[in-house]
Amino acid sequence: MKIIDKVKSIKEQELTATENLEQKYNIIEEKNDEINAFVELDLERAQKVAKEIDDKIKSGEKTGKLAGLVIGIKCNINVEDFIVSAASPTLKEYQGSYNATVINKIIEEDGVIVGLTNMDEFAAGSSTETSMYGPTNNPNALGHIPGGSSGGSAAAIAADMCDIALGSDTGGSIRNPASHCGVMGFKPTYGMVSRQGLLDLAMSLDQIGPFANDTTGIGLMLDVITGYDPYDTTTLNKETTPFIDDTTNTTLENTSVGIVKEFMDVTDSKINDVINKSVDKMSDLGAEIKELSFGDVDLGLPTYYLINYVEFFSATRKYDGRKYGERIEEVCGPEVARRIQIGSYISQKEFSGKYYNKALQARSLIRKDFNNVLNDVDILAGPTVPKLPHKIGEKIDTMDMYAYDVLTVLANITGIPASSMKAGLVNDIPVGLQLQAKPEEDHKILSTMSAIENN
Ligand code: GLN
Repeated sequence: MKIIDKVKSIKEQELTATENLEQKYNIIEEKNDEINAFVELDLERAQKVAKEIDDKIKSGEKTGKLAGLVIGIKCNINVEDFIVSAASPTLKEYQGSYNATVINKIIEEDGVIVGLTNMDEFAAGSSTETSMYGPTNNPNALGHIPGGSSGGSAAAIAADMCDIALGSDTGGSIRNPASHCGVMGFKPTYGMVSRQGLLDLAMSLDQIGPFANDTTGIGLMLDVITGYDPYDTTTLNKETTPFIDDTTNTTLENTSVGIVKEFMDVTDSKINDVINKSVDKMSDLGAEIKELSFGDVDLGLPTYYLINYVEFFSATRKYDGRKYGERIEEVCGPEVARRIQIGSYISQKEFSGKYYNKALQARSLIRKDFNNVLNDVDILAGPTVPKLPHKIGEKIDTMDMYAYDVLTVLANITGIPASSMKAGLVNDIPVGLQLQAKPEEDHKILSTMSAIENN
């Protein structure tokens, strides 16, 4: 059943919010030991919320857009009374004392938050292996990483443990695990969703977004969490049409779709075969397919990581062991330590911003060139991740880990919207199709996903 139909059946009393929660919780109990998608659960609190929603429905009161849906939240987003640790020993006892803006919005729309999901420590990774809670298993490719850093949220959706989950995406952390787990993930345009209450990885790149198994789940959640927030001055102040309206689209007529040659060149050929089939399908649905070229692909990763290190270093200065938890340098894992060390080094006064300024120059160049490519078409389609996920625990070096991000970081560097949806399988492992569009053209992405899904 599509998520939108589930909400309808809850509102029409064919299914109660309590029953829906029970169904999801049974799956969690059955599978979470093996999958490790949720790191903290609060059944009692969720039951109370579900009951309140059922009571409202019974008494004929109006309920919200998410009425009775079970929601999982990445553990770097503040939810009151949950441990918001970002999967780091630094914050292992840090209890959320307030709700992030997105959480308040979910509660207002009658979503039922059941728990927090696993992730890489401080969202700095692509495998969910650096979590203090241990790795998450990929429900659709057991024994393999689910991707990251929002691996717990993607896995929770893939295993059907909740209806919608939230993640954060700084360089691919929503799209990458969506791709490896075979679910849908959506990173909105930078500024579409408030970051207030999100623990920063790199604030000029971070964006919150949803995971679901169908576009109606994505559309409903986008309708709830997008919009201007006075507490986050980077949010955009614009009214848009409802995202849920995009999810009934069935055609790609009048849509031009660009395929970037250099994106395919860096990708495994078996993954490209699957992506090419999706492109054929888009063409069958009426899309005009155009071959495009983008020369700066190799600038993406160095630019992204330089900015990430500097901004992350600055964001971590508050974890000095006084106000929040432990002193980060004393307890963090090697990847977080590396980012702090390098970030600190390149931020030194002696360099007077030399390296960071170079990265910002490269960022402007990439933005200009990528906008030129985007100007030729409505949508860019291609692979989300250039290679298959490795086995959990398999040693891979840092550069190979970073290489997973080569196709996803561009959307964060430029601030554009981007999504991933399942394109097919390679060796029985899901492979994602990434769609990207111009800034604020999030609707085009969702309606394109919908056309592919509905045919
Ligand atoms: N894998 C990338 C990194 O390690 C992206 C992480 C993210 O999007 N949070 O920085």
